[in-house]
Amino acid sequence: MQVKILDTTLRDGEQTPGVSLSVEQKVMIAEALDSLGVDIIEAGTAIASEGDFNAIKEISKRGFNAEICSFARIKKEDIDAAADAGADSIFMVAPSSDIHIKAKFPGKDRSFVLEESTKAVEYAKERGLIVEFGAEDASRADLDFVIELFKHAEEAGADRVTFADTVGVFSPEKMESTVRRIVSEIELPLAIHCHDDFGLATANTISGIKAGASEFHGTINGIGERAGNAAIEEVVIALEYLYGIKTKIRKEKIYNTSKLVERLTRIVVPPNKPVVGDNAFTHESGIHTSALFRDSTAYEPISPEVVGRRRVIVLGKHAGRASVEAIMNELGYRATPEQMKEILARIKEIGDKGKRVTDADVRTIIETVLQIKREKKVKLEDLAIFSGKNATPMASVKLKINGMEKVEAAVGVGPVDAAINAIRRAIKEFADIKLVSYHVDAITGGTDALVDVVVQLKKDNKIVTARGARTDIIMASVEAFIEGLNMLI
Ligand code: MN
Repeated sequence: MQVKILDTTLRDGEQTPGVSLSVEQKVMIAEALDSLGVDIIEAGTAIASEGDFNAIKEISKRGFNAEICSFARIKKEDIDAAADAGADSIFMVAPSSDIHIKAKFPGKDRSFVLEESTKAVEYAKERGLIVEFGAEDASRADLDFVIELFKHAEEAGADRVTFADTVGVFSPEKMESTVRRIVSEIELPLAIHCHDDFGLATANTISGIKAGASEFHGTINGIGERAGNAAIEEVVIALEYLYGIKTKIRKEKIYNTSKLVERLTRIVVPPNKPVVGDNAFTHESGIHTSALFRDSTAYEPISPEVVGRRRVIVLGKHAGRASVEAIMNELGYRATPEQMKEILARIKEIGDKGKRVTDADVRTIIETVLQIKREKKVKLEDLAIFSGKNATPMASVKLKINGMEKVEAAVGVGPVDAAINAIRRAIKEFADIKLVSYHVDAITGGTDALVDVVVQLKKDNKIVTARGARTDIIMASVEAFIEGLNMLI
């Protein structure tokens, strides 16, 4: 069994408060969705704006494998706009609950909706479109009426029908019985469209599929109106691993697609989000990690490579012998049992003070206990910053890299960014370093507070964390960055 996916990241997802994508950005996302393997890309609402119209037009021209779809109401002008933009199909919705009928067509009743729906489906077929006909707010509607609506659409020539839980109020049990009844009365393939207002979008979607729906709607990262839509990555992984139901998704592309959508929509993925969240495959070292080193299935339901990710081990106050030994092996150090005990005790001490334990801390502790003197490869000699109102922040740095002096300058969106850009430029020949994350805490209140900057840096496949703590936020950031560099170069 294989289910189809209609991706609505570019339509329902774009309706997320605060999200607005340019035509170019929509094309980039559509490209990623197509190579991810979604069956249908709902690229926008052709009638809504010139931008949406152009985005659908551009995306339709690309010759993607996916069917390109426009959202539409049961209105002639909506259908014309979608067809004129070159869409393959429309997801055309009619209000089905009395609340929606009253709100959208004041003074009209159910029979009006039936008539208009029939006319709209017939017209859309005349215009050569594939028609997916949806009952909006179907979960709060009279099911008999929803089925009547679907029957009218079927007779008028629709290709698929959709049951929409527009406000996310369904439960898995209701979804199951409802879908069972619809598929027993309607011949057309049935899709379901779920929202996450009660945190049940994934569960409801799966229930619907188990009961006979052959397609579901979802978005990448679960973005969408209010609490969002069903998250495609969650549904796909759960379907395959827990229910043995396949999709066409190339799972190894999930993570990069998620990151692209996060970057362009600026809707940050919560760290604890299944599959794509930062912490989904991150472990704090300790009891768990020693078992994990021996057998990765011990504390992971699926391996991170499946969705195009890598396992991350974060050192914390629970840092155990296994993770410290792994670092020591990497550095080529050996410790006596007494030294090991001392190293672990000092790591716990940092954690007990409520501070994050970084790789740099562990390394410094190991080297201090083992009394190893290490020459730092990258040293900061000079740093000058220029910033102010109506001025582009600029920074110049003088670094000593392997004993050689190097001077560079760069601009940035702020003084910290400018300083980091200048350093990055100075070390360019030595290494391509990426800043994965940047975190600031003010340790005490007040403008004279000590700030604690923790950065995660990446070179090739290696990620390290390092800290800088100073009263000057720029210096703390630079210090953390250089500390991390010294571990990576
Ligand atoms: Mn929706």
